[in-house]
Amino acid sequence: MKYTIATASHVGRVRDGNEDAVYPDEDETTVGPIVVAVADGMGGHAAGEIASATAISAAVAAGAGGAVTRVKAANAAVIAAAAEELGRAGMGTTLTLGIFWPDGRLEVGHVGDSRAYLLRNERLTQLTIDHTFVRELIAQGRLAPEEAATHPQRHMLTRTIGMQDVRVDSLEIHLVPGDRVMLCSDGLTGMVSDARVARILSNTPAPAGAVWSLVEAANAAGGLDNTTVAVVDVAE
Ligand code: MG
Repeated sequence: MKYTIATASHVGRVRDGNEDAVYPDEDETTVGPIVVAVADGMGGHAAGEIASATAISAAVAAGAGGAVTRVKAANAAVIAAAAEELGRAGMGTTLTLGIFWPDGRLEVGHVGDSRAYLLRNERLTQLTIDHTFVRELIAQGRLAPEEAATHPQRHMLTRTIGMQDVRVDSLEIHLVPGDRVMLCSDGLTGMVSDARVARILSNTPAPAGAVWSLVEAANAAGGLDNTTVAVVDVAE
């Protein structure tokens, strides 16, 4: 399989710094295996930036590991980095990563509320489940889905990289030529509906154009958070 990868990360229109991180940071075309990852850090005094960057570099460096191994390596690295300085106590990050294999397998590892999506035949499917308090309330029938977008605690995470013994979600799918995979931080999905994201992804042929069109859409909708997007096109 041939993978064409583009990524973009933007501070948005309100925040002072960009606490998101993404890998790779240069666009590339490869037959794989390749890791593509998005992380959205949190913590005061630049700790969020350190958390997301630490998670991504540890996940990418984790030898020939599978998705769960890589996410766990990221978790250990963030816990270690948090212990190095007092101001980093409690820092954490989301991490959503995909390993794209030469035979078309996509392995996904995931903690937090960044997301992975598959666009196949112009239909967009969310592959990951958000680890948020609001999503748990919906699952328990205590909150209507349409109330989620405005709930005051919609950003509260139930799982983050940086927690001891974090549970890692994983899944595997088989990609076919013509598929497009997107990873993103909540700066995109908090500002732009899935329907709009699907339209932009379906109507923008080149991955590099698609990632920046999505960042522009998030900023045009207010850009309240950092926005990070990775798009991977699959070809024979
Ligand atoms: Mg965010």
